[in-house]
Amino acid sequence: MWPLPVGPPETERSMMGTPHHLRSGSSDSRAAAFLRGSERPLAAAYDVALLDLDGVCFAGDARVPYAAEGANGARELGMHLVFVTNNASRAPQAVVDKLADNDIVASPGEVFSAAMDAAALLHEHLPDGAPVFVIGGDGLRQALTDEGFAVVASAEDAPAAVVQGWDPAVDWAMMSEGLYAIANGALHVATNLDATLPTERGFALGNGSLVAAVANASGRKPLAGGKPFPGIYQRALRRAGGARPLAIGDRLNTDHVGARAADIPGLHVLTGVSTARDVLLATPEERPTFLHTDLRGLLQPHPEPRRTTSDGDSWWQVGDERWRVTAAGAEGQGVGFLDTASAAVSLDAYRALACAFWDYADAHGGRADDLNVPELHVGSQENNV
Ligand SMILES: [Mg+2]
Repeated sequence: MWPLPVGPPETERSMMGTPHHLRSGSSDSRAAAFLRGSERPLAAAYDVALLDLDGVCFAGDARVPYAAEGANGARELGMHLVFVTNNASRAPQAVVDKLADNDIVASPGEVFSAAMDAAALLHEHLPDGAPVFVIGGDGLRQALTDEGFAVVASAEDAPAAVVQGWDPAVDWAMMSEGLYAIANGALHVATNLDATLPTERGFALGNGSLVAAVANASGRKPLAGGKPFPGIYQRALRRAGGARPLAIGDRLNTDHVGARAADIPGLHVLTGVSTARDVLLATPEERPTFLHTDLRGLLQPHPEPRRTTSDGDSWWQVGDERWRVTAAGAEGQGVGFLDTASAAVSLDAYRALACAFWDYADAHGGRADDLNVPELHVGSQENNV
């Protein structure tokens, strides 16, 4: 059985190199994996937002609080927006329509999907006009045509590559046709390797699982785009232009792993999958650079976290909040220990707690889960609790 991939394929990894902050012995590895401050609103300090969609701009069919206010407000502050998604089946106009339903202004040229990422990745290996076979839907065919490839209908047409992306139309016949082409020497490229696809009924088969079926039969490891690989951010940025990118996402193990690996600062929001507790427990590779509850985080300055010492004790201070984590647990100055299963805290307390938990974990073999790590209900700056 071909194992489900957990890291970048070899080709991608060797192309990108190891990010400096992930190299062992790097002197700035601690500094690189902590929160930063910004005196100006993030939308003024950074010129391009690489925005995740689901869990950030909307949540399935539901609206996300303050998403339109944050995204449209960032644009008004001069930030260029790019919507970066692992979804390979939705064409750019469909994304724009979905954003419009959520009162977020966007144009098709601002969408960068995993389908477009796979097409751009393929261009690093094949010349213009090369024939490609698609295991996927119209969104992926369109992305490949737009990138200058000739989409062919059969393995008999001798495609130079087989590009695979999730679509409800993908079936046994289409996957087997792709397999014939790969057996004849075609390159296998996946839009992304998400093992599962969240649905209303639970987790369904994602593209990575269907890619694994083809690779299991071919015995060949595919190239892959999409998050958590850093390439999707780098290729989206190359297309959009801009010098100071900021990645915004709700999932630590995709959005923020990709951002860290691409050396792009990340803003985490609490409107999607990863919770504040997940953030406190994040590994260095997953850690965001800025924290907020929602996209209003783009419109505000972020106070710089500082390590302060009083009476010989070390605390993490953000704004007026001072917190530390020791073997005795998480403790707020003037507040006491957080010893309950859940707690309501202010945004600055959440930020100070994240620094304190990360500091503790880094000093204790990467683990803080021997401590009580509460679920946090984080209040916004407007209504601290
Ligand atoms: Mg998301």
